[in-house]
Amino acid sequence: MTAQYFAPVASPQHPRTTFADRHIGPSPDDLSRMLTAIGYSGADALIDDAVPAAIRGDRPLNLPPALSEPQALARLRELADKNTVLRSMIGLGYHGTFTPGVILRNVLENPGWYTAYTPYQPEISQGRLEALLNFQTVVSDLTGLPVANASLLDEGTAAAEGMALAHRVSKRKDPGAFLIDADALPQTVEVIRTRAVPLGIDVVVADLSGGLPEGDFFGVLVQYPGASGAVRDLAPLAEQAHERGAQVVAAADLLALTLLKPPGESGADIVIGSAQRFGVPFGFGGPHAGYMAVGEGIQRQLPGRLVGVSLDADGAPAYRLALQTREQHIRREKATSNICTAQVLLAVMASMYAVYHGPEGLAAIAERAHGHAVRIASGLREGGVEVVHDSFFDTVLARVPGRASEVVRAARDAGRNLRMVDDDHVGIACDEVTDDGDVTAVLGAFGVSTDLPETTGQAIPDALRRESPYLTHPVFHAHRSETAMLRYLRKLQDKDIALDRSMIPLGSCTMKLNATSEMEAITWPEFANIHPFAPIGQVAGYVELIGELEDWLAEITGYAKVSVQPNAGSQGELAGLLAIRGYHASRGDQARQVCLIPSSAHGTNAASAVMAGMKVVVVKCDDQGNIDLDDLHAKIGKHREQLAAIMVTYPSTHGVFEETIADVCKAVHDAGGQVYVDGANLNALVGLARPGEFGSDVSHLNLHKTFCIPHGGGGPGVGPVGVREHLVPFLPSHPLRAEAGPQDTGVGPISAAPWGSAGILPISWAYIAMMGPDGLREATEGAIIGANYLAARLAPHYPILYTGRNGLVAHECIADLRKITKDTGITAEDVAKRLIDYGFHAPTLSFPVAGTLMIEPTESEDLAELDRFVDALIGIRREIERVAEGGYDRDDNPLKNAPHTAASLITEDWKHAYGREEAAYPVPALRENKYWSPVRRIDQAYGDRNLVCSCPPPEAFED
Ligand SMILES: *Cc1c(COP(=O)(O)O)cnc(C)c1O
Repeated sequence: MTAQYFAPVASPQHPRTTFADRHIGPSPDDLSRMLTAIGYSGADALIDDAVPAAIRGDRPLNLPPALSEPQALARLRELADKNTVLRSMIGLGYHGTFTPGVILRNVLENPGWYTAYTPYQPEISQGRLEALLNFQTVVSDLTGLPVANASLLDEGTAAAEGMALAHRVSKRKDPGAFLIDADALPQTVEVIRTRAVPLGIDVVVADLSGGLPEGDFFGVLVQYPGASGAVRDLAPLAEQAHERGAQVVAAADLLALTLLKPPGESGADIVIGSAQRFGVPFGFGGPHAGYMAVGEGIQRQLPGRLVGVSLDADGAPAYRLALQTREQHIRREKATSNICTAQVLLAVMASMYAVYHGPEGLAAIAERAHGHAVRIASGLREGGVEVVHDSFFDTVLARVPGRASEVVRAARDAGRNLRMVDDDHVGIACDEVTDDGDVTAVLGAFGVSTDLPETTGQAIPDALRRESPYLTHPVFHAHRSETAMLRYLRKLQDKDIALDRSMIPLGSCTMKLNATSEMEAITWPEFANIHPFAPIGQVAGYVELIGELEDWLAEITGYAKVSVQPNAGSQGELAGLLAIRGYHASRGDQARQVCLIPSSAHGTNAASAVMAGMKVVVVKCDDQGNIDLDDLHAKIGKHREQLAAIMVTYPSTHGVFEETIADVCKAVHDAGGQVYVDGANLNALVGLARPGEFGSDVSHLNLHKTFCIPHGGGGPGVGPVGVREHLVPFLPSHPLRAEAGPQDTGVGPISAAPWGSAGILPISWAYIAMMGPDGLREATEGAIIGANYLAARLAPHYPILYTGRNGLVAHECIADLRKITKDTGITAEDVAKRLIDYGFHAPTLSFPVAGTLMIEPTESEDLAELDRFVDALIGIRREIERVAEGGYDRDDNPLKNAPHTAASLITEDWKHAYGREEAAYPVPALRENKYWSPVRRIDQAYGDRNLVCSCPPPEAFED
């Protein structure tokens, strides 16, 4: 087969008129040509041969007909108009903020940032890695602890991770007890409870204002400042806790820390929280970046990802993800956490907010919010209203016996949401956007004089005023003009490969089109500026949109009900397993604790099972990569009485539709277990088969894979969980929002916000609405045709590892490099790095099988791009041949030395045994459009040995 560069065939019979036509890359003519190359004359025949009849659904998707882009936007506008945007002064971890326009447009609304993937290939990710390192520096400086990670999912889950870390550090064998400040955010307390129950950890909530209660605790969580606004000295508590051998977890507000003594200086061991108010809109609860910082000595146990500095092949400093050995893929059931997708895009925004404002700017914002709170407090006091706390940062707690609801109602009539704490107390939170009008409106709602009180005095005790400097690194001082900021963002963006440059063929990750029209609505104020705890009457549009999306996803998956609360696939897994746990417990089956997991599973599966209190038993796979049925039956036999569930991925992580899935489900059900189908590969099923109908009881989906939420460079994500009828009572719920889930039987909240990352749900809503039932099915067919086309073209050059019936794959395929490596020394990693010289992001490297590349094209890549990619891999195969034949040196060749930077080529002393042109321009088209890697291959081990994970001094970058 020959290359077909830039030779699109005019297709007058098939003008691209619908959204689906534009979402699906290949034209109908191209699809015919691809089918011919696979050996088929039509899509139906291929699909019939690829997808087992046993799982095929017999009814089409019952979804509304496709809307055009303008129609979908009009409908979203209608829904948006049903939301009411008031000034929310509710607080509870969510605050008004102003997203600088230069960040809004050039990060949040910019595909150069939002379509990037998690930076596992560091050479093509230097831009977002630098931004994440800045984020870590912000968190580390503000919290006063030396090591911070590159984001967690939200404050509540970060607190739960803090509890788990404290437990690991305590080295206790028993579950023990964890103490929580009664002034912690109410949703944080409940997220921690949800996570503690399956682990057997006792959660004790107590008023800590008078010191620690009696008892034996491995850790204590303190909110700083408290949910009530109170600012208390952490030092005496930390001292008491340490005397008892307990770890101190502080949940801290980053903006407050610009003025308050940082927890790290008061003895906190772990500090967690949210970076939301650093320029990231409410979004009705998310997505926002959670964070965690820790003291020296426990950084190797930190959950989530950590960016570090290492050296490249030329000895130049370069960023990469550090300590990957802690991650679930490698540690599996021994992983420290199940978190995979995190909140990169939001962490980038927050870090850029700090770069934009600098330390003085942040302090000024904090002082202003504090000043407004002080004025409200003094106005209330002058009017005879009791203010409960003397020390506070931005939140005032007013005591109005019996009048709270009346005050809150009056404030609402004046356009402000306040927090109704109880019948007698009202909370008022000030923030970056609070102005004099808000102060008068609030005072008016309390019925006191609305004359603006003088801003004299302050409410932070001298002993708790921050004295240590922060954000001293030049990056937080160098980009203050908007011009400089714009260019800094552009400079970083240009270092990276995202979907706006080329296809990203990552198996299991479904890097498909994130259409602009899907993205548009998320920054509309009616979706962006809604507090997660705004009164239900103000969010009718959101409730309707979420209801429709959950119903559509239920129809697509064949489940009775879907909850969108989990904010990543990993969290959906935990939610699903907790539902199974709840179901067994409701039937008195507490002994069912064994979770079977095939050896090919994604690492999060095992980690989630452990978090759900289950025991992981691994089931073998056979030579074809399928679940080994003999081993399955043996393991079921052995654990029949304890069998809780099996977790299988379908189609499998090997990219194959396993024929035996129905038998697997039946065997597990017969033994009293439940079936969890990991829905990350749903892009191979939508419109063709429904997990809820072919034997599964529960699945999570990844809206950031199948349903077009962009990966954001490693998050945000949404991981809805779908269940059959008998598990509906055990879906996630929320303490502050009865509408978000089953209140009495629910497993509690999985995320801090009632509907998780609600702010990005309009993306998936728009995708489904614009594709319609036929478009969705055609997309699935396109994905399967694309993967089989790649497999057919690559097979003569690279062995394709696993295939299903009729030699076909599902929506991805695995190229096996192991024999090539044995023969030539060229590894899958060398191929991945050489692809960078060809202008491509690598496929998934060494998952699920070491020494292989897993390739997933998705339906969105057109034929020219698929061919360009295949031709690159074939070109690389020829280079490997030259190594084999001795034409290239085994160690000094374009593959081993890839990627090549411009600087490494444009040098007086080129010492390599191959030419510079063949290094840079292995195919002619690169002369016209070339991505230059900013660094050479990065030494991973060096960076782990010499861990540097906040901004290094600028001298480090001098040569
Ligand atoms: C991506 C993926 C997950 C985890 O999802 P996250 O959103 O990254 O947490 C789980 N299982 C499989 C098979 C996946 O591909």
